[in-house]
Parts: sequence; structure tokens; C-alpha cells
Amino acid sequence: MENISKPTVFPNTVILQSEGLLKYILDTGVFPREAEALKELRNATAKHPLGFMGAAPDWGQLMALLLKLLNAKKTIEVGVFTGYSLLLTALTIPDDGKIIAMDPDRKAYEIGLPFIRKAGVEHKIDFIESLALPVLDKLLEDAANEGSFDFAFIDADKNNYWNYHERLMRLVKIGGIVAYDNTLWGGTVALPEKAVSNAKQEWRLLSLAFNESISKDCRVEIAFVSIGDGVIICRRIS
Ligand code: SAH
Ligand code: CA
Repeated sequence: MENISKPTVFPNTVILQSEGLLKYILDTGVFPREAEALKELRNATAKHPLGFMGAAPDWGQLMALLLKLLNAKKTIEVGVFTGYSLLLTALTIPDDGKIIAMDPDRKAYEIGLPFIRKAGVEHKIDFIESLALPVLDKLLEDAANEGSFDFAFIDADKNNYWNYHERLMRLVKIGGIVAYDNTLWGGTVALPEKAVSNAKQEWRLLSLAFNESISKDCRVEIAFVSIGDGVIICRRIS
């Protein structure tokens, strides 16, 4: 039995998830309810050398709940990879819903595409093979797009998170939600710099700066959630 650490900073909390707890959560509440198409896509992704980048299924479950609570119809996804969060969104929004999804890596998207097709939800997806920033800027050229999106999931290059945020604060409606993934960056945000591998240092600093800025941003209410690699969920309020 793994030890569950009891933090001193806030007593009634289990510090993040031990591996055993995560397994318990996934086995009990997540995998038994995961759509077959998502399971198949997840298994196909596991064979990819970067398969670990796929969205965490427990986060996927929370994301689906948020989409349902919002009655989300129009969404944005930045960072598709093989499409776990994309398929999840497509399965969750109504039949006439639309996702504008951006990723320069079409090859990875094509790994997930057969499962998206099999699930019969491809018509809800507008995949744009591109870096996200120019696409978001293009959307903003049409005033009709301002405040027209219900939800956005950002799961891509951390150096652009604040650039995405500035654009999303115009594209997503007041009351809509923007969720940012990997905000705990493998836990490195709480480690001293010298304990962090070189490969993770740059995005650790970017994550620290982004998390601090978003925590101070009065345009949003936030929930900083220790699920997957850390997600900051923002609700636009102004
Ligand atoms: N949400 C995905 C995981 C995304 S992994 C899932 O559920 O599986 C991160 C992805 O971001 C990679 O596929 C990478 O190609 C993409 N990416 C990196 N830089 C990007 C950029 N500037 N714009 C859009 N996508 C980007
Ligand atoms: Ca991610």
C-alpha cells in the first residue's frame, strides 16, 4: 500500500494523486464510463513515441462535464495531437456543434481520425493544419467571431499561452470557459530550479509566469485543478 502524504499546509487534503489513487480513480470512475471510440484512440496513441502527450482521461471526464454544463456548441482546441480531447469534445457537443481545432501536426491527427470517423462525429470538426496564433488572429478579423465561442481547450506550446489567453478573452463569450493544460508542468513548478532537468527548465519558468499572471487576471474566475498535469479552468467574467 502506498503512503498517502498528509500535507501540513492544508490538513484535509491529499497531496495530488499517488499512483495508487490515480489508478483507483481511473479504474472506478473513469475507464468504465469512457466511450469505446475514446478507448480505442487512447490505445492507438499509446504506441506513438510521444503518446504520453495525450490528454489525461480523468481530465477528459471533467472537461465533458463542463461542456455539458455550459451547453457548449462552439469550441476551440489548440493542440490536437492524436485527438483524444478533440474526439471527447466532438462526442459531447450536440450534432450541430462545431470545434475549430488547430495543430501543425496533421500526421498525429491522422492516427486518431479513423476513430473519429467510426464514431460518426467528423462533421463537427474543422481541423486546421497550422500554428494556432495566426488562426486565432484570423478569427478575430471577423467581428462576428468575438464572444461567439462557449469553450476553449489549450494544450500546446507553453510559450504562447498568454498570447492565446489575450485572444481567447475576445473570442470566448462572457460566461464561457477556457481551460489550460500542463500548468503544473510535471510538478516542476513547485521544485527549486536546480532540481529540474535542463529539458524542463524553460517551460517551468513559462508555466510559473503564466500561472501567476492568470491568477491575477480580473477578467476571469479560475479553478487551479491538480488533475492530469494540472489544468487551470477559467470562466470569463468581463
Ligand atoms: N490535446 C491533445 C494533446 C496535445 S499535445 C490530446 O488530447 O491528445 C500538444 C500538441 O500541441 C502537439 O500535437 C503539437 O503539435 C501541438 N502544438 C505545438 N505548438 C503548437 C502551436 N503553436 N499551435 C498549435 N498546436 C501546437
Ligand atoms: Ca497536455
